[in-house]
Amino acid sequence: MTFSVLIFTYLYLRSPSLSNLMQISCVCRYPLGMSGGQIEDKDISASSQWSESTAARYGRLDFEDGDGAWCPDMSVEPESTKEFLQIDLRSLHFITLVGTQGRHAGGFGKEFAQMYQIKYSRNGRRWVSWRNRHGRQVIEGNKNAYDTVLKDLEPPIIARFVRFMPITDHSMNVCMRVELYGCEWLDGLVSYSAPIGQLMVHRGQHIYLNDSVYDGEVGYSSGMTEGLGQLTDGVCGLDDFTHSHVYNVWPGYDYVGWTNESFPGNYVEILFEFDRIRNFTTMKVHCNNMFPKKVKTFRQATCFFRSSSDWEPTPVTFSPVMDDVNPSARFVTVALNNRMASSIKCQYFFADAWMMFSEITFQSAKYLLRFSPGDDPTHKVDDSNTRILIGCLVAIIFILVAIIVIILWRQVWQKMLEKASRRMLDDELTASLSIQSETFTYNNNNQSSAGSEQESNSTYERIFPLGPDYQEPSRLIRKLPEFSLSMEEAGTSGVSKPVQAGPQEGVPHYAEADIVNLQGVTGSNTYSVPAITMDLLSGKDLAVEEFPRKQLTFKEKLGEGQFGEVHLCEAEGMQEFMDKDFSFDVSNNQPVLVAVKMLREDANKNARTDFLKEIKIMSRLKDPNIVRLLGVCVCSDPLCMITEYMENGDLNQFLSRHEPEGQIALACNAPTVSYSNLHHMATQIASGMKYLSSLNFVHRDLATRNCLVGKDYTIKIADFGMSRNLYSGDYYRIQGRAVLPIRWMAWESILLGKFTTASDVWAFGVTLWETFTLCKEQPYSQLSDEQVIENTGEFFRDQQRQIYLPQPACCPDPIYKLMLSCWQRNTNERPSFQEIHQTLLGCLV
Ligand code: ADP
Repeated sequence: MTFSVLIFTYLYLRSPSLSNLMQISCVCRYPLGMSGGQIEDKDISASSQWSESTAARYGRLDFEDGDGAWCPDMSVEPESTKEFLQIDLRSLHFITLVGTQGRHAGGFGKEFAQMYQIKYSRNGRRWVSWRNRHGRQVIEGNKNAYDTVLKDLEPPIIARFVRFMPITDHSMNVCMRVELYGCEWLDGLVSYSAPIGQLMVHRGQHIYLNDSVYDGEVGYSSGMTEGLGQLTDGVCGLDDFTHSHVYNVWPGYDYVGWTNESFPGNYVEILFEFDRIRNFTTMKVHCNNMFPKKVKTFRQATCFFRSSSDWEPTPVTFSPVMDDVNPSARFVTVALNNRMASSIKCQYFFADAWMMFSEITFQSAKYLLRFSPGDDPTHKVDDSNTRILIGCLVAIIFILVAIIVIILWRQVWQKMLEKASRRMLDDELTASLSIQSETFTYNNNNQSSAGSEQESNSTYERIFPLGPDYQEPSRLIRKLPEFSLSMEEAGTSGVSKPVQAGPQEGVPHYAEADIVNLQGVTGSNTYSVPAITMDLLSGKDLAVEEFPRKQLTFKEKLGEGQFGEVHLCEAEGMQEFMDKDFSFDVSNNQPVLVAVKMLREDANKNARTDFLKEIKIMSRLKDPNIVRLLGVCVCSDPLCMITEYMENGDLNQFLSRHEPEGQIALACNAPTVSYSNLHHMATQIASGMKYLSSLNFVHRDLATRNCLVGKDYTIKIADFGMSRNLYSGDYYRIQGRAVLPIRWMAWESILLGKFTTASDVWAFGVTLWETFTLCKEQPYSQLSDEQVIENTGEFFRDQQRQIYLPQPACCPDPIYKLMLSCWQRNTNERPSFQEIHQTLLGCLV
């Protein structure tokens, strides 16, 4: 594609006729580099940005980088044009078309500009509001977050700087991606100053010959100064000046005209200012010649040149042959004899009562190198027209070929990635499973490995059991006004439809290949991959050893998780196996009790891979408040992870069984838990999280259900299922179809798919709340899932309409204050786990 543009540019530079604006506005519609990257980040700026990931540089059409678009800091208010996205094109450009898009962000973005205005400047100081030919400034923008809406700029603009200013009719969040289309303005004309065009009354008809799109200053005595307008808008007037190419405008629209009655010297003087000193060959003036109505081309043009402060004494004078036969409008070409100048002042002498111009263009030598003296200029124009045509055709062919190549390449590449990722995961499995088989001595030992290799369509339910705490976000986010449309769009733009089915069937399968693809879709800058996890996933060796399966004796079933059952087992020889690495709280002769988490019989290949990944992650985590992985049985089925046994089960169930100390508990004889116990448990969770965050490890699913309780209110964080799926975290965002614990999730995790330590802090706040309510109710129990998502939108908008979890009855003020700080909208205002831990230690009573 670039190549075809180069060809075009080449022809353009070599061809004088392209300076003819009429042609330029038809062919000059090339993307100027927002989507193609030719416009550099440093040349894209904005009035404000909502966050680093929605900075101006993300305002590129068709780009999904960052959070998917440029978004200003605040909601855009009605009538306000305060916010803008600015592009510096570095040189003057003729801009004929603009394109806008909203923030789609793979289906999560919803913001777009329904309307916008454009301001432009040639020098960065004087800014002009663009208006259409009827004087309207507002341009209709987007109707959804993903479609590109292209708008012809009629009239086109000649500018170096362009600003897009989103406009709204009510206060709303707006994001934009934009592109400018046109080509470089090689004429170099920066402004012309001329007398104001006049009104002609012809047989009772009013013909307005003013310059209606002039963008400079207009004063009755000074005339038009410092601007460009109809004489450079690319529209050549018709033979009959009372008619126009342009739809629905007034008679005389195409022309700027003057009557000789108003000019005692019999000429009209126009001053042309250029960007730099140029070597001028010709000037072309498109004139009307409707002599039956007393309009004729000029009879003489006298042009003066200036390169420094003074005008050179010798002008160039040219007298065209007057044509009293053919009344058609025409370009009159004035040879400027290679005069050097940065300003040209031309006096056009009347040949009749009226003189009317619709276009004036200049050709400077820089672009005419291929012409030798003596060439016939009219011939050259035709010759170069053919070149443009050929150039355009070649360009189109190249574009088509490039598109076909890209499509083919993408298909091949996708297949390669799929294969590569499958191979990678197969390798990983093989490495872990290739150890010699051993016999499993307790129940459930008749698993068939063929069964576990089976592919099934219901992979997700084993990853997220779809219990009441987990929701499929896409279905819900659709309910959120700003986000609803984009989720619909997700369905139409190739993104899979959300799943309606229940826990056991239809929960979509995510394939390794999809996950790999996502790396390409999301880019690498927004979604941090915890360093340790990357490390673990890349490492082949486990930091934990194979425990002889026959030394495990089944005692009882402890619970059921996403992978399968969790059993309490006696582990013979476990103390020796662990040696000094871990001390067990048992006397020497007693058998060690351990929890054995087993992969279920019908688990497919992906589940096995996930299970092994969780093992890898857990094997490296060593902290008093993180459940310790003691050993594994991965050399035969069923795959098992052996963890320390936490006799009081998970914190949620534990607290649900207890009552706070006080009268009620006494009355109903229920087991009690004191405030200081609650506080102690919360502090331990904070400590475990402090450890994880020090490794840049994002848990993603912190909740009381994922904390285990041992003796004496010891707490250990467990369940690294979500962090295991860190790659598919992007996947949730893109496909929006996984199930997520929305009531524990930070707003940015739900709406933007961002999982960070700061979002873990948010979840910690909710876990703290659960702890101090003794898990007697679900967070936001009075809200439906849809309302939770709506509330998330309120956190995003931050207009004080968001609902916070209330202060639990037995929760002291400082603890509630800590919770609220975890739910700060801005991630950098939330405390770190280090600070949380300190605070909790500090308010110990
Ligand atoms: P999954 O991660 O697959 O959802 P869990 O680890 O949450 O499975 O285990 C399911 C249940 O088994 C827990 O809710 C808890 O009651 C019990 N459990 C798991 N691990 C242990 C353990 N180490 N000690 C005691 N009980 C456990």
